[in-house]
Amino acid sequence: MTEINALLERAANGGRLTLDEGIALYREAPLHDLGAAAHRRRTRLHPGNEITYVIDTTINYTNICDVHCSFCAFFRPEGHPEGYTMTHEQVLERVRWAVDQGATQIMVQGGVNPELPIAYYVDLFRAVSERFPSADIHSLSTSEICGIAKREQMTVEDVLLTLRKAGLKSLPGAGAEILVDRVRKRISARKIDDDRWIEVMRVAQRLGMPTTATMMFGSVETDAERVRHLDVIRRLQDETRGFTAFIPWYYVPFKTPLKGKEATGLDYLRVLAISRLYLDNIPHLQSSWLTPGLKLGQLGLMFGCDDMGGTILEEKVVTLAGSTNTANRAELERAIRQIGYTPVVRDTYFNRRDFALATA
Ligand code: SF4
Repeated sequence: MTEINALLERAANGGRLTLDEGIALYREAPLHDLGAAAHRRRTRLHPGNEITYVIDTTINYTNICDVHCSFCAFFRPEGHPEGYTMTHEQVLERVRWAVDQGATQIMVQGGVNPELPIAYYVDLFRAVSERFPSADIHSLSTSEICGIAKREQMTVEDVLLTLRKAGLKSLPGAGAEILVDRVRKRISARKIDDDRWIEVMRVAQRLGMPTTATMMFGSVETDAERVRHLDVIRRLQDETRGFTAFIPWYYVPFKTPLKGKEATGLDYLRVLAISRLYLDNIPHLQSSWLTPGLKLGQLGLMFGCDDMGGTILEEKVVTLAGSTNTANRAELERAIRQIGYTPVVRDTYFNRRDFALATA
């Protein structure tokens, strides 16, 4: 057995990979072998025939942002004529519409807007949780949390406690991109650094707030830096066990200042597979269809993923960067069924929610 095959065998059986072994597998393992090992691992973790997905929406409540990431086509600086901030009633109207479609996950996410006091979020989350008790508020990036803390001169812990009291249940882990200092300095020099991202997640998890972890790959990072990102996530998970799922997605370069090339479908599948094998302590791996499209998202279910993400009834950040992919519930379910699995609706925390497709 070659060294690569021995590593694949170990990882498929749940054995831990070192950083160097992960990098070697990511770079050298033949795609089909890497995918097969990840699929075996996934099948052991989630035996049975079900693939989950959530009915969710992402409401981009403000595009004003003082961070100015070069990979972002969504934000507008303060004072820009195209800058906007939704009123609470505008956000609530969108939540109402999404809940009427069966949404249980509400992701309110936007720029780091220094004009907004914490009261904006407290009043909003309180109103959402009072009017729509069936919806889980899974909202705000680590950067937004830190932006609120800075504006209000509060600790991250106090911000999270205040927002949790108002109805915030969990954090989506956005703003991670690649948690390697060199990469962050190149693509988001004004953003919180990797240590701060980890700190916000650690505090949230210590408070008992579930979180997911994300990865935006395909900008300026190397292969080794992709695996290093996984290593950062795995180390924190060893400590806290607070991540429910990992969600890798690739950078869409078409309308951003950074520009560059779009990752290939093969890159996407390799990243999914190495994520499943390397992250031996994270239960769920999500195949996002938003940037790679539904067909590739479908293929991701054979490369280590047990979850198809969400319906994302509304979203602007990735769309403005040039992604044109859309999917409704019927299309998501069809994509899952076409490869022999049974679609199951879940909530943010991977509990089953039984919603007939009639509402799609
Ligand atoms: S990615 Fe987020 S933090 Fe960065 S510029 Fe865009 S909205 Fe702001």
